[in-house]
Amino acid sequence: MQQGRVIQSTGSWYLVDTGDEIIESRLPGRFRLEGKEVTNPLAVGDKVDLTINDDGTGNIEKIHVRENYITRQATHGKRGEQILVSNLDQACVVQSIKQPKLKEGFIDRFLVTCEAYEVHAVVIINKLDLAKSGGKAFAEELRELYTSLGYAFLTTSIEDHQSLKKLKELLTDKTTAFIGPSGVGKTSLINALDPNFDFKVNEISDFSSKGKHTTTFARLIPLSFGGFIADTPGIREFGLVNIEPWELSLFFPEMLEPRENCQFSNCTHEHEPKCGVAEAFERGEIAASRYNSYLNMLDSLK
Ligand code: GDP
Repeated sequence: MQQGRVIQSTGSWYLVDTGDEIIESRLPGRFRLEGKEVTNPLAVGDKVDLTINDDGTGNIEKIHVRENYITRQATHGKRGEQILVSNLDQACVVQSIKQPKLKEGFIDRFLVTCEAYEVHAVVIINKLDLAKSGGKAFAEELRELYTSLGYAFLTTSIEDHQSLKKLKELLTDKTTAFIGPSGVGKTSLINALDPNFDFKVNEISDFSSKGKHTTTFARLIPLSFGGFIADTPGIREFGLVNIEPWELSLFFPEMLEPRENCQFSNCTHEHEPKCGVAEAFERGEIAASRYNSYLNMLDSLK
């Protein structure tokens, strides 16, 4: 029996990376019955045991319990959920300090999603070389804010080898998803890290693009220095499904304590009297940008 990682799914075949080689493998039908609540019983990212047939193909014998996974609503009129990718060690939200303009709302929405999926989150601010002193100071403010909330934070530039070294350390032996709008430098960063890569702009399906690549499945891209990049079309839709408005603050670490002081247990921290979160905000204990992101997200949940 060998162990491996599913790195791609073509429908009936799965590519399994054992570390030494990539084996085309099949999944016996019995697994389809076991995994009825999701549309794909075996997902990209799954760790599996497999036996090798005489012709060199593999038979998947066991799927290891998933540490986490990201789903989206099944497409093509199917019911239930589709697992996009499993066993992520971390997800990085990438923003650039400028070109395109940095959007804190994007970062905060992503962080809520990571909290909901229990995926370790990293905030990356790229293109630091384009920042003047004001931009650099702003990046430092963001570093202070997000590290104080418990998130890992990195500033990068494809021009700055020191920062690329840190990013490489972060990715080594980990399975990482990059999420961010088009143009912030996700492809450039990955190309700069691994001499084997020469991805074209947007080739990695933007890691987040909606609409495009809707028929493509996710894949894991092996890194030469160990680890994988998760290329997951449609990941942006891993939206805030199934979160009730009053639950949203559970995914903001700085609101957990203050919300205990709310008069109403289903307080949405928007307009209610005797609200612990609003009071904490007024005392300056919750950043304005975060409260603002919270209110915007709340709006979209209603
Ligand atoms: P993606 O859409 O997020 O994958 O972004 P790309 O990697 O395609 O980069 C978009 C543009 O930003 C390209 O013209 C890159 O050369 C440029 N770019 C990426 N990273 C940096 C950086 O750190 N500094 C500067 N100045 N430009 C960058």
